[in-house]
Amino acid sequence: MLIDTATMSLVVSVSSLLHALVLIFLGSIVYRYRGLKIYTVGTILSAATFLFFLIRWFYPNLLVLRFLGNVFLTTSRIFYFFGISRFINRNEFQFLWVMLIGIEIVLQFYFTYINSNFLARNISVILVVGFVQILTCIYLFSSRQRSFSKTAYFTAFILIIDSFFLFFRAIVIPFFNVRHLFHSNIVNATTFFLMFVTDHLRNSGFTMMVIQRLYGDLESRANLDFLTQTFNRRAMNGYLSQEEERFIKNDKIFSLILLDIDRFKQINDTYGHDSGDIVLKHISKLLECHLREGDFLSRWGGEEFLILLPNTDCQNAFAIAERLRQCVANNPSANGTIAHTISLGVGTFQQHAQTVKDLIIAVDKALYRAKKMGRNKAMIAITASASNANMKDNVNDNLSCTD
Ligand code: GH3
Ligand code: MG
Ligand code: MG
Repeated sequence: MLIDTATMSLVVSVSSLLHALVLIFLGSIVYRYRGLKIYTVGTILSAATFLFFLIRWFYPNLLVLRFLGNVFLTTSRIFYFFGISRFINRNEFQFLWVMLIGIEIVLQFYFTYINSNFLARNISVILVVGFVQILTCIYLFSSRQRSFSKTAYFTAFILIIDSFFLFFRAIVIPFFNVRHLFHSNIVNATTFFLMFVTDHLRNSGFTMMVIQRLYGDLESRANLDFLTQTFNRRAMNGYLSQEEERFIKNDKIFSLILLDIDRFKQINDTYGHDSGDIVLKHISKLLECHLREGDFLSRWGGEEFLILLPNTDCQNAFAIAERLRQCVANNPSANGTIAHTISLGVGTFQQHAQTVKDLIIAVDKALYRAKKMGRNKAMIAITASASNANMKDNVNDNLSCTD
């Protein structure tokens, strides 16, 4: 059985049109993303391409259909890749795409009307499409957008397969003596069948990229504090549970720092609420800069931040707390005009409490002691045993990590 290329043209055209409909609908929901409209235009051009091919089946001598079919095919691929590049925020050169379309028009015109050559027409399409597809793969693989990396790799993988088959077609055309597109042979049948498969998978890949990005955006909105862009309490609770489980499974120690901006109400009253917001953002940036990768910073309450330090013992956690305290005190907000300090409570899991909930209570008490000691201080929580022995909250000295 040999699949006839006219039927396959119809199938690919309809498939592209259906994807165009899906993308138009998707675009009406997620209109913020760049590149979606351009990619959609690509699918419409692709649908037109295969419609031209189909009409040619009935009017084989209409050269204009041959010319338009090949130009539209290349242009649709260029639009796909222009769309994908924009979607992943690559600042591609528009000039390059216009130039490629121009080159294709000239080549197709020459090999259609002046020196009719089937192989040259094919190779010209394959070279331009292959070039943009490989370029898009490089863009996709080097994209730093983690929120849709899986689907981006999927799309890149389809592009590699498609490019491989395109180059393979260029090599086998002379061997199978293929003279025109509707020549019924295995090369044309396979080409059209693979075009259908890769078209469908690439369009699905791009649609999945949009959906995964949406999911990523929604997830980060649900997990981040709007003002400071640090994790919110909900997200931090999830990380705390994870860390507790990790301790139970692998004995991985972790510590917490709870910190509060000193006399923040006074800052609001003196400089205004907007300046208070600037201070919150400034301090959260300072904290973020001085934490290690893998530490978690969250806005726990109004002007309180909770920091989770995985694989960190009490001594190191206290050293980090001291570093943060000094950094905030030495870097005033609003171009150095608003001075501020923070007070901190430090505690380590199992050493200062047996559950995360109790550890938070313990670091909160340590923070309270830091405030009572005059603010701008870091204090270590009272150990579980000392706490059980009814150790008073108003101890004057900071407790050592080995208590
Ligand atoms: P202390 O040193 O004892 O912590 O004193 P404080 O003034 O910092 O503590 P208090 O709890 O009296 O005041 C906290 C203030 O934080 C009151 C509240 O209006 C302010 N606040 C909470 N959230 C925000 C916010 O998102 N933006 C601004 N600008 N202020 C906030
Ligand atoms: Mg405060
Ligand atoms: Mg407070």
